[in-house]
Amino acid sequence: MRRKPDLILKDLEIIAKNLGRFTPEVLQRLYDIDKYGPNDYGHIPASGSTSGRPSGQISDPVLNKVASRMTRPASDPIGDCIKGLDRKIGELRRMSDGMVEQLLYVVDRQKSRREAAILTCACCSREVMGTPADRLRSGYCEACYKSWIREGKAYRPLFELNRRASLEAETAQK
Ligand SMILES: [Zn+2]
Repeated sequence: MRRKPDLILKDLEIIAKNLGRFTPEVLQRLYDIDKYGPNDYGHIPASGSTSGRPSGQISDPVLNKVASRMTRPASDPIGDCIKGLDRKIGELRRMSDGMVEQLLYVVDRQKSRREAAILTCACCSREVMGTPADRLRSGYCEACYKSWIREGKAYRPLFELNRRASLEAETAQK
């Protein structure tokens, strides 16, 4: 990742805050507004009319359609804007689904890699975690590696034999 985790976290917070503006009430309002053409704004019911038809219109649906087509101007910026929001929310949904897929892919891969390669010290057979602080160096764990370096990178089979013997003696003493 090129950016630091706290910067990305800040972005995620702002995204959550922005998207939080689209409350159920706001979405219902957008839906209601977009139901009507730009000519119908005078007829928008103050709150949740279920008729879906502005007052003063005749009840013939075909005629209504023809009438609205005749009176509706070519441009409908508010309707376009609302439809754009709808489309973008759909895109965000697909994008975030994809991001979760990618995240799981990476996490699962790391997990299976860690599980596949259980690393053990070639000298004391201790399992190492594979982290920077606890990794194999020349096939040895940190402690064995340091011991081996102290002995001037001694002949490995002999070094391992001696170290195992001294480790056993240590544990026997405890
Ligand atoms: Zn070791």
